[in-house]
This record gives sequence, C-alpha cells and structure tokens, in this order.
Amino acid sequence: MTEERPGIPYVRPSITEVEIEAVTEAARAGWGPRCYDEINRFEAEFAAHLGVRHAVATSSCTGALHMGFAALDLKPGDEVILADTNWIASPAPIVHLGATPVFVDIRPDTWCLDPEAVERAITPRTRAILAVHLYGNLCDMDRLQTLADQHAIALVEDAAEALGSVYDGRRAGSLGCFGAFSFHGSKTLTTGEGGMFVTNDDALYEAVHTLSNHGRARGQTKQFWADMVGFKYKMSNLAAALGRVQLARIDELVAKKRWILEQYRERFAPYPQLSINPDFGPARASGAWMPNVVLDESLGVHRDAVIARLKEENVDARVFFHPLSSLPMFEAAPQNVNAYSLSQRALNLPSYHDMIEDEIDRIARIVIQFAGGHP
Ligand SMILES: *Cc1c(COP(=O)(O)O)cnc(C)c1O
Repeated sequence: MTEERPGIPYVRPSITEVEIEAVTEAARAGWGPRCYDEINRFEAEFAAHLGVRHAVATSSCTGALHMGFAALDLKPGDEVILADTNWIASPAPIVHLGATPVFVDIRPDTWCLDPEAVERAITPRTRAILAVHLYGNLCDMDRLQTLADQHAIALVEDAAEALGSVYDGRRAGSLGCFGAFSFHGSKTLTTGEGGMFVTNDDALYEAVHTLSNHGRARGQTKQFWADMVGFKYKMSNLAAALGRVQLARIDELVAKKRWILEQYRERFAPYPQLSINPDFGPARASGAWMPNVVLDESLGVHRDAVIARLKEENVDARVFFHPLSSLPMFEAAPQNVNAYSLSQRALNLPSYHDMIEDEIDRIARIVIQFAGGHP
C-alpha cells in the first residue's frame, strides 16, 4: 500500500503566536478612543519601512488604486497604459472611473510592461502609466519615468506583488507618483484582506485621505458632514494589528520567499528549456513573491499538462496570468505576442513561507520530467 503524501499548498500566510496575541489584544481593547491606534501606527511604520512621506491603510490594493486614480482626477475619455499580463485588480479601478485601460505587451525577460510598447501606445488621451511589478520582478522605472516626464503624464506603481523588491536602493512602490500594496492572504505580508496607498506627494495624500474618509476633510469639525462623495476603503484596527506584527517580521518573510525562489533556480539550472523569475542582480532585487517556471517553446508542452501532473501528486500549482485582453470584457490584442505566448507556457509554483527543501525537490522532479530530465 502506498502512503498518501501530504499536499503542498500554493500559498499560505506565516502566522505566529505574536500575530495571534496582537489581534486578540486589539479585539479586547482597540475600541472607542483607541479604535484608530493600530491603523495610525501601521501607516507610520509602513511609510518608514518604504521610505515615503505618507501612507493610507485600505481594505484592499484595488481600493488604494481606485482612490489614487480618483485623486488624479481620472475620468471618461482618459487612457491608462499597463501590461497585458496582469491581475484584473489593476485595470478594474480604471474602468470604474470610466477611463480606458490600454494593454501593451510585456518583455520576455522581465514579464513587465515593455517601455517601447508603452511609448508607441501614448496618445493625447494618455493620463498615466501603471507599472505593475509582476511577481516581484521590477519594471524599468528609469525608462518609464522618462516617458512620463516627456509626456507630462503620471507614473503609478502597483506594488502589490513587490513588497521586498528594491530598485537602485529604493523600495518598489516608493518610486512613482503613488504606489499601492495588497495584504491579501496570498501576499508576502497579510492582514487577511487589506492594502496601502503610499505617496511622497503632499497634495495627493490630502486628496486620498479625504476620499478615504467618505469625503470628510481633515479638520472638518461638523459631525456627520461630508465635503464631497468619497469612498469607504478603510482598514480595520484588528487587521492593522496583524499587519504591524507582519511588518516587524518583513525581513524574515522576504528572506524565506527569496530562499524558496533560489531553491527552484538551483534545481532548474541544468535544464536550459526551463526558466524561472529573472535575476537582475542586487540593483534590481526581487522580493520573490511568487516563483514561476516557463517551459521553452521548443518543448511543445502546455502549462495545463504540468499543472495536472502536479495535481496528481497533491501539489497545488496555478496558471500564469492570462492576458487581460483575452478576457470577455476587453478587446483581444493578440499582437501582444509575449503576453499570449507566456500564459500558455508558464505556471506559478508553490511558495508558502514554511516550505521545506524536500517539498521543493518533489515539485522540481515532476517539472523536470517535462524537460526530458530523468531525476
Ligand atoms: C493581489 C493584487 C492586487 C489586488 O489586491 P487586493 O488587495 O486583492 O485588491 C492588485 N494588483 C496586483 C498586481 C496583485 O497581485
């Protein structure tokens, strides 16, 4: 009789007794006059960690992006350029504001938006470029900032997947006119659901601060009075208590993610037809949120075959992002050849924080067989 091997989860947060105690304490005492204490501290600590002037805690990254774009006064007729390979959360707020997302191709090496494709897509209606640091890989921020400056448009960062990524000594999310983070349960740092808006721009911060408080301006003393129609994307004090402990552990959480990625890198190195998240050295260090393996075209293997085989072995792997332009509500853009090709040949590999070497060996052995390897 063969023994069923325990399954290997895809992602799972790292929650210790310290997190549990912090949330318990917030549940016990974080009410009344203390109902914003954890939120205020989390915002200040996150801003300090990132090296930015301002942070506003939110209920999601989607909400942070929505308020940031609203503060930039994005409106119908405006266009925002972003990579075709992305999660739906990035374009959704653009669509909600009545503006148009314009999907450009990715670079095959970074999997992030191609600055040359961005340049070709700029029109008189372009209001912003949304740089999404996919899976922790960094966008070419120098080139994108130059384009943004030349055309007087905003450069925004969706850094949901890039906590721990560092670009020329500056943390991802701190480089654009504003940045947005996610603390969803699948992300490197979690608050269950949650996010953060960050910026160095005082005016943008004031605008988002007011929007995030149902349009009630800071300093407004009239009770239940709103100065405009805003949003309700606040983080709870309980979630912030959890986030603060996770942030105190951020070096450990990122180190574990990087270790997992390097373990995969070593296992796949002898197989040139298997590639994983690029390594551009310390000047473009990735926080390694999610390892992906890409099967070379010459292998003729579809990612579904690999995912199915992993599933047979109780390993939970997932598909690389579909091109957004292939979703039913958008116009197809098959000219984005890299986005369309990669999505057929790449998959997310498990990377939960407590993974052990034996689990990575099990996964690597299965994947390697698709590259003709006989481990
Ligand atoms: C997870 C994610 C989001 C959405 O985050 P929520 O907190 O779920 O809104 C946005 N953008 C990217 C790139 C993501 O990976």
